[in-house]
Amino acid sequence: MQMDVPEFALVIIVGANTTMRTNFINKHFSNSEIVDSSDLKAIEKRLKDRLFTVVVQEDIQPKPFQKLARLTKKYHCKPVAFVINLEETTLISHANEAFHQIKKQANQVKTFTKNHRYNGIRKIYELKSINEINSSTLYRYQLLCNKQDEIGPFDIIGDVHGCAEELEELLIKLGYKIETGKNSHFGYKITPPKGRKAIFVGDLTDRGPNSPKVLRMVMSMAQEKKAFGVRGNHDDKLYRKLIGKNVKLEHGLEETVEQLDKEPVEFVEKVRDFLGKLVNHYVLDRGNLVIAHGGLKEDMHGRASGKVDSFCLYGDTTGKTDEFGLVERLNWAAGYKGEAAVVYGHTPQKEPIWQNNTMNIDTGCVFGGWLTALRYPEREIVQVKALEEYCEYRRPFYK
Ligand code: MN
Repeated sequence: MQMDVPEFALVIIVGANTTMRTNFINKHFSNSEIVDSSDLKAIEKRLKDRLFTVVVQEDIQPKPFQKLARLTKKYHCKPVAFVINLEETTLISHANEAFHQIKKQANQVKTFTKNHRYNGIRKIYELKSINEINSSTLYRYQLLCNKQDEIGPFDIIGDVHGCAEELEELLIKLGYKIETGKNSHFGYKITPPKGRKAIFVGDLTDRGPNSPKVLRMVMSMAQEKKAFGVRGNHDDKLYRKLIGKNVKLEHGLEETVEQLDKEPVEFVEKVRDFLGKLVNHYVLDRGNLVIAHGGLKEDMHGRASGKVDSFCLYGDTTGKTDEFGLVERLNWAAGYKGEAAVVYGHTPQKEPIWQNNTMNIDTGCVFGGWLTALRYPEREIVQVKALEEYCEYRRPFYK
């Protein structure tokens, strides 16, 4: 059996037979990863530091598991349980006096598996025989957000929102060569200056005059591995629309849908697949750079959870609406103390300014502002002015 575990996880080992358990642990984990299950402080410290952690939980009552589940939630860490549940035929060979005890525990383990799927521990591997333990392989996979090996240089581009002409102009200004033709991906062949890649902070579509063209350019670069992007709230909503979810056609989505209606079905299907594969944030350049549409607090970098996802898409929100009828947003960047530079978009700003090593590069192009790129690691700003005000912004950002 191959078992998949994310690079950042809390592994909880449950099982009746000490020898088998020890075999299993020695086979797959190193001593430094194992922490006493009662030492919650030590577990918490490791999860805070984003370290792969293994605990043996002998007591299979719900309480200790709830404590562990709470910790994994707090640190956006995936809990994975391995239940070593040897069948009775194996158990029968044990000494008589131990037999009843083991059998009782085995039954408890069965109940455990059933209960804990509802306790936040959704990933549970059950090992039922010595053979299964011996032949098991464990694969530690990298989280999708981990692009630490990509070191740049990058041209990070703010919210495009269908402003295709401005995007073309910006790419040219950044030194990209744009060719069109039938033998290219989606009608475009875009070549960055040597060694560079473009990164989009999300919100490629909606409100602007030509979302399909923006998608063609970006998807063509992505196909050639010359660009990638994170998911913005508008990309997310368009995706949900394209897979048939019931979403409201508003905030410019109605225009994108209308524009896409004129495109070939095969292209729209490719758009759907492209949007579906977007990742919500990236940690790049050996941990020195983080890209997320709505920004990202330090304690969420390189982690995966529903809360992290929603922060990436919508930023730090209070859940209330402001005087302009827009979602009230908190300035997470004001309290940011992290070492990684965080580059994001989502909320239009008059100017891109560094604040505690974070920069919002959404300068409201679709609202008549600018389309902004940040050259990284140079930290140079390259901008083009919007050709027109395509949409009126309800909140004055030019103040
Ligand atoms: Mn936006």
